[in-house]
Amino acid sequence: MTSIQFLKGVGPKKAELFAHLGVETLDDLLFYFPRKWEDRRLPGRKEPLPLLEDAPVVRGKIKHVRDMYTGSGLRIFKIVLETPYGEAEASFFKRHSPRFDVFAALRKDLKEGRTVWVTGTPEDPLFLSRIRADEYYLEDDARALKMHVGRIVPVYPLTEGLTARFMREAVYEAVMAGHEAVGDFLPPDLAAGRGLVARDLAARAIHFPENNFELTQSRRRFIYEELLLMALAWAIKKRQTKGVLKGFSYEVRKTLLTPFRANLGFQFTAGQAHAINEIFTDMRAPTPMARLLEGDVGSGKTVVALSAMLLAAENGGQSVFAAPTEILAEQHFITFASLLKGLGVRAALLTGRVKAAERKKLLADLAAGKIDILLGTHAVMGEGVVFKNLRLVVIDEQHRFGVRQRAALRAKGDRADMLIMTATPIPRTLFLALYGDLDLSVIKELPPGRKPVKTTEADEETAFAAVKDEAAKGRQVYVVYPVIEETADADMKSVKAEFERLKVLFRGRKVDMLHGRMPGELKKQVMEDFAAGRTDILVATQVIEVGIDVPNATLMVINNAERYGLASLHQLRGRVGRGKHDSRCLLVPHGRAGDSPERLRAMLQSSNGFELSEKDIYIRGAGEILGVRQHGDMDLKLADMARDKDILEQAMQDRESILAADPELQARGNRGLRKKLRDLYASRWNLIDLA
Ligand code: ADP
Ligand code: MG
Repeated sequence: MTSIQFLKGVGPKKAELFAHLGVETLDDLLFYFPRKWEDRRLPGRKEPLPLLEDAPVVRGKIKHVRDMYTGSGLRIFKIVLETPYGEAEASFFKRHSPRFDVFAALRKDLKEGRTVWVTGTPEDPLFLSRIRADEYYLEDDARALKMHVGRIVPVYPLTEGLTARFMREAVYEAVMAGHEAVGDFLPPDLAAGRGLVARDLAARAIHFPENNFELTQSRRRFIYEELLLMALAWAIKKRQTKGVLKGFSYEVRKTLLTPFRANLGFQFTAGQAHAINEIFTDMRAPTPMARLLEGDVGSGKTVVALSAMLLAAENGGQSVFAAPTEILAEQHFITFASLLKGLGVRAALLTGRVKAAERKKLLADLAAGKIDILLGTHAVMGEGVVFKNLRLVVIDEQHRFGVRQRAALRAKGDRADMLIMTATPIPRTLFLALYGDLDLSVIKELPPGRKPVKTTEADEETAFAAVKDEAAKGRQVYVVYPVIEETADADMKSVKAEFERLKVLFRGRKVDMLHGRMPGELKKQVMEDFAAGRTDILVATQVIEVGIDVPNATLMVINNAERYGLASLHQLRGRVGRGKHDSRCLLVPHGRAGDSPERLRAMLQSSNGFELSEKDIYIRGAGEILGVRQHGDMDLKLADMARDKDILEQAMQDRESILAADPELQARGNRGLRKKLRDLYASRWNLIDLA
C-alpha cells in the first residue's frame, strides 16, 4: 500500500489532514468518492441532469482590473471580462491587511489581455454577468483545465485545512498514478453479464467523468460492487449463525401454553397462528433462532412473543423482553400479569425506576433462576443483569434499539434464540439486504372487529370542536404535541404551554398531561388514570406512540403533524380504533415544512402500515429510517438501498447464483471476491469463515 505522502504536494502535515478523512493510502484516496459533481462546462455544453449540480462559470478576456478598498476593512478585486455573451464582471473579496498585499497573487495573474476562467456565485441568479468569484484559472494553465474548469468537476467532503482545489488535484494525481490499485475483483462473466464498465475506467470516471454517461456508468459499477459484497457478507453471516448448535432442545408440553390460551379470551388470527408456528419450529430446531416478526400496529405481536416465552418457560428456560420506553414496559407488564394469571410463571419488571434494594433482590432472583420472564427497558441490558439460563431474547419495536444493543442482550445467554418485532415493515428486497441474517414472519391481518380509523387533515378549531364532542359522548381523547417545552420556533407547539391552555378551554373536563421528563411514578399514575377512564383528555408527547391500549379512546389529534415521520404518525393513529366505537385521527399542521404535504397525503390515503412504510422509505430514503444499520455496519459509500433498488435486486440475484455454484468462494474466478469480502467484512462482522 503506497502511503499518500508519496503523492506530489502531500507532505506529513497534509497527510495528517487526509487521515482525518480516513485516507491514508493512494488506494484510499482513489476510493474517496465525490459527494457530488459540479458541471463547470460553459453554457451551451452543460447537461441538465440530476446528478450534476450546475455551477456558474465565466470564461473571457480581461478588459479591466480594479482593486478597491471600501474603507470598512474589506477589499475588492474586480475584473471585467469580455465573453461571447457580452461583458461579465467578477469580484474577489478579502479582508484588508495593513501588513501585506492580500491581492498580490491576483494582481500578478489577472492581467489585462489574459483569458481566464472564473467560478463563483452569481450576484443575481438570473444573470451570470456579475459573480462573486470563488476560484480562477488561467487559460494557458493546461493542468488546471484538465481538472478544475471546463468539465464536470468532483466535489469532495473536506476537512479544515484541505481546500476543494487541493483535494481535486490530489485525487487527480492519484487517478493518474493508481492503475494497479483498481484491478477488477469481480468474476469477468458476472461483470460482463451485468454490463458493468471496466473497473479502472470507472475509478477514473467516478472522479473525472468526461460526460454524464461515464458518470452514470461508473457510479453504477461501484454501487453494484458495494451491494453485492454486502449481500454476500449477509449470506455468510447467516450461514455462520445457523452453523452453531444450541445444545438444548424444546418440547411443546402445553402445560403453560394451554392455560395461557384459555386466559386470552380470543382466538389467534391466522397470521398469529402461522407466526407462532414458525417461531416454535425455529425454537425446536438444533440451531438458534434469529427471526424478525413484522406486523402492523395492533396486529397482536405481544401475545405471539408471550407464546414463545412460555415455550421457553415450559422447558425451564428464561426469557427477556426489551421494550423501548418505561411507559411501554409498564403497560406490557400489566398485560403480562393478567395473561399469566394462574400459570405459576414468574415475571418481573426492570426499568431505570426500580429502587436499589428492589433491584438487588430482583437481580439475585434472576441469577438464581427464580424469574422466568424479565421484562424491561434498556435497563435489562445493563452489566449487572445476569441470567441463570437465558434461552430467548425478545426485542419489541426493534427500530428503537441499536444493533449493538441487540447483540449485547443476546450475549447474556448462551446461543439464545432471538425474536425481534417491528411495526415498521420494509419491502422484501430491502429486508433481505438489511437484515439478511434474519428469517422473517409477517402478520398480515388485524384481529377481527377492528374499525378503520377515519383520518383527516383539520385546523385547530375543527379539531378542538371534535374533542369537545367526543368527550361529551363519554369517549376519551389524545392530543399530541411535538415538544415538551416551548422553543424558539414559534410554529412548534409544546405540551406544557398547550396543557395550560387546554385546561381552560375544556373547563369541566378532566385534562391531564404526559411527557417523558415527568417522574416515573407520576407517569404511571397518569396512565392508570387514563386507562381507568378518570381522564377525558390526555395532552401528551410522542411517548404514547407505542403500546398504549385504551379501547375507550376514540380521537387522536396530532398537532404539528408536518413534523412527524410517517411511521410515527401511523403508530400514533394506532392508539385509537381499539374498541367498539368509531374512531378518528385528525392531523393538524402548524406551518408547513419540507416534504410534509406528501407524508400527510399518504396518511389520508392509507391505513395500512405496510403500504405506508414503503412510501416512507421512498420519501425519506432508506438511510434515514434504518440509519445505524446502513452506515455503521456496512461498507456503503455510494449505494442507497431505496434509491438503487434495481441494482440491489440484481446483486441479490447474483449472490444466489454465485453461492449456489461455489459456497466457499474457492473457485479461481471467485478468489478476488473472497479477498475483498474478507478485507471489508471479516472483522467488522466477525465472519470466521472467511479467515
Ligand atoms: P402490536 O402488534 O401492535 O404490538 P398488541 O400485541 O399490542 O399489538 O395487540 C393489540 C391488542 O389486540 C391487544 O389489546 C391484544 O390483546 C389484542 N389482540 C391480540 N390478538 C388478538 C386476537 N387474535 N383477537 C382479538 N384481539 C387480539
Ligand atoms: Mg406492540
